[in-house]
Amino acid sequence: MQPDQPSILLNKVTRLRRVYLQKIPQIISEMRNLCLGLEADSTDDEALVELHRLFHGIRGTAASFGMTDISQAGDAGCVLLAPLLHSAHAQQGAALTDVWAGVNDGIDRIEVLSKKTVASPPEDRDGADVAPAPEPKAAPSATKLVPQNRLIYICDEDIKYANELSVQLSSFGYDTECFADPLRLQKAALASPPDVVVMDTMFPASGLSGTDIAARIRLGLAVPPPVVFFSVKNDFQTRLKAVQAGGAAFSLKPIVATTLIDTLDALTRSSETERLRILIMDDEPEAAAYHRMILEQAGMVVRELHHPEHVLEILSEFRPDLILLDLYMRDCSGRDLAGLVRQIPEFISLPIVFLSGETDRVTQVSAQRVGVEGFLTKPIRPNELINAVALRAERMRILRSLMIRDPLTGLFNHGFVTQFLETTLAAARRDKSRFCVVMFDMDHFKSVNDTYGHPVGDQVLIGLARLLSQRLRNSDLVGRYGGEEFVAILRDVGVEDAMRVVDSIRQDFMEIRFHGGEREFGCTFSAGLALYPDLSTAEALMEAADQALYESKHAGRNQVTAASSRGNCD
Ligand code: GH3
Ligand code: MG
Ligand code: MG
Repeated sequence: MQPDQPSILLNKVTRLRRVYLQKIPQIISEMRNLCLGLEADSTDDEALVELHRLFHGIRGTAASFGMTDISQAGDAGCVLLAPLLHSAHAQQGAALTDVWAGVNDGIDRIEVLSKKTVASPPEDRDGADVAPAPEPKAAPSATKLVPQNRLIYICDEDIKYANELSVQLSSFGYDTECFADPLRLQKAALASPPDVVVMDTMFPASGLSGTDIAARIRLGLAVPPPVVFFSVKNDFQTRLKAVQAGGAAFSLKPIVATTLIDTLDALTRSSETERLRILIMDDEPEAAAYHRMILEQAGMVVRELHHPEHVLEILSEFRPDLILLDLYMRDCSGRDLAGLVRQIPEFISLPIVFLSGETDRVTQVSAQRVGVEGFLTKPIRPNELINAVALRAERMRILRSLMIRDPLTGLFNHGFVTQFLETTLAAARRDKSRFCVVMFDMDHFKSVNDTYGHPVGDQVLIGLARLLSQRLRNSDLVGRYGGEEFVAILRDVGVEDAMRVVDSIRQDFMEIRFHGGEREFGCTFSAGLALYPDLSTAEALMEAADQALYESKHAGRNQVTAASSRGNCD
């Protein structure tokens, strides 16, 4: 990903501004039509609201693009129309004629000014204080069943050991390549760099040192991969050399696989999932694009929504950390939209911030009554927007995670899963889609606790949680249902695909080696799966998945059963 240069950003703003200027004649013609109708009948409330909205849009968007004079003409129109919005019937005669004359003047002024404005780069004093940021990544594909794996190179003269490690890593969704010869590793890493290199510090057979090889890889690449060293030696010099060669972590050999996975997860954690996710709802595409650009500068992942009727789909698919909402939109007001979102239990705590040209304090306060977190006024300085959004989104992310996450595994908790199932069900009924509910239960888990102790049992639960989160898609949901039971909701899949995915997770989980003191052991789970619309209520789905799970247990455990087809694979 190449960062945007400031000149590229400026070009983007200029382009957006130009597109917006090209749209103004269309807006003006709509305004004139509305005005004509209203002069004949000023009690047409709908037309009045729409005309006010158009003036209001010009006030906010023109200001955002630095076209202050056009924005002021928009503002004048809003001021003239505002009293009529509340009491059109009370205004009569000469007063009303003056209003329409003023409104028409305002429209003329917008027309003249917009024609005069050349689409030259705006003198945006704020542009400079925004740091260049990465290009937005494409949204994660919802059709992909398995997220893309990360590539790990493992290098050890003892190739058998490297291969054993490789089996463990692949269970957790990592792709691996093993090397016995450090020079071959060096060549491969320089030719096609992996996400992480895991290597020994010593290669006695060839007389080469792992830290030297790592240093060479580092020198040869602009963005070298992190290196995790392992060694049988635990002395100061070995550790120091590893750090000096840029080692990101150091493990003693034999490596505890689950600890290595922790390190690899941390080193390769997709920044996509860490970055704040912001949904901008504005029926003015240029305004939305402009604010999106500013937030993307700050590394946030941003989606735009111009048609409020798609809000439910985008909320459950994109899962934003915050919504930035325009107040006046064509099809429904921001206030109504905020109210609608607030009525969905799953989004009750999702922060909503209005971003609007509305400067009237009373209107701002009344808009906030629907339970939004704040009100930002257009035009807003880029850094102010970034700070306001980041602060609220981050705070809410922490609060939400405390409320809805299970502290041991970090997965969603029982309450949240139950809510999410209801929401998914409503969405599936609405758009006639399908989804699967999967229940997982650890096999003979009591004996794991009895044999190795409760803390080791906890490690096994964390292992399964991590595997499930890695292997399912962004649009799927994984939760800890209770004790050693987990639940997943897989969207837009049929029974066969879901069975395939869950069964491949089952097989990978079997391969993971856990450690209880000196001893190594494996664990298995059984699963049961039910499909919507075969079962059509939340209770029926959970019951059917649970029954299918019971059948898996009864048939010998370590297998997956589907409720609808009674299909069974092991
Ligand atoms: P089955 O194959 O029939 O599911 O047998 P099981 O032993 O897994 O099932 P059982 O319901 O008899 O035992 C579940 C065990 O899970 C008992 C309980 O102590 C353990 N468990 C529940 N929650 C936790 C936890 O948070 N940590 C640990 N370590 N163990 C837990
Ligand atoms: Mg159980
Ligand atoms: Mg169990």
